[in-house]
Amino acid sequence: MSRKNVIAANWKMNMTPSETASFLDSFLKTFPEPTAVEIVLAPPFVSLPKAAELMAGQSAVGLSAQNMSHEASGAFTGEINAAMLKEVGCQYVILGHSERRSLYGENDVVINKKVHATLAAGLVPILCIGESLEERDGGQLEFVLSQQLEGSLAGIDAAQMPGIIIAYEPVWAIGTGRTATPDQAQETQCYVRSVLERLFGGEVAAAVRIQYGGSVKPGNAAELISQPDIDGFLVGGASLDPASFADIVKAGA
Ligand code: PEP
Repeated sequence: MSRKNVIAANWKMNMTPSETASFLDSFLKTFPEPTAVEIVLAPPFVSLPKAAELMAGQSAVGLSAQNMSHEASGAFTGEINAAMLKEVGCQYVILGHSERRSLYGENDVVINKKVHATLAAGLVPILCIGESLEERDGGQLEFVLSQQLEGSLAGIDAAQMPGIIIAYEPVWAIGTGRTATPDQAQETQCYVRSVLERLFGGEVAAAVRIQYGGSVKPGNAAELISQPDIDGFLVGGASLDPASFADIVKAGA
């Protein structure tokens, strides 16, 4: 089963609308046509309309939000719903990033509601999972990842799974400059795929794209992407510079 690599930029709380415009001015010139890789940008909410405006008429790069409420509408101050994201041109939503889990208390029950809401709206969830260093060192790696997958994917049908992207992001590798070795990432992502196989069957597990995230840089992207169970990247810091993100995308092709 061939899986198209998907490389996503998670800008976190960086990039104002004008900074987004400067980035796209440069980046879209590098990728004027669709490539062998699916490219996704996830600006902060307020920069989404500017990004959508500048990305109109091209299909090389898709647009993602970094979070979403599972609620449809109503008295939820500070939240953003699926309809709002769709209207500004999003096709993807990052869900359950470790910063959302650790800083804002999101757990698998909430993330599961968001996965359902995202799919119901026709958006593609980029579902993040990953273990802390203590959990890995304490022999809890497989337990933690299977719990996160079972919890956040509860009630999802096998037929829906190929429309979900999983991002394996070891928490100890996010923003730390410490990358999982290609062997570590491959071994873990092979395990993630085995959990998907247990939950949804072999055919579905073989179709689901699993990104690696955690200090991906132009210098380590090629070796990581050569691993059989790594189907792209979720990139934080190195995605803020158009040339550096372009080099990662090229490595992913
Ligand atoms: C991320 O935020 O998803 C991430 C992987 O960040 P960084 O690339 O900076 O480690």
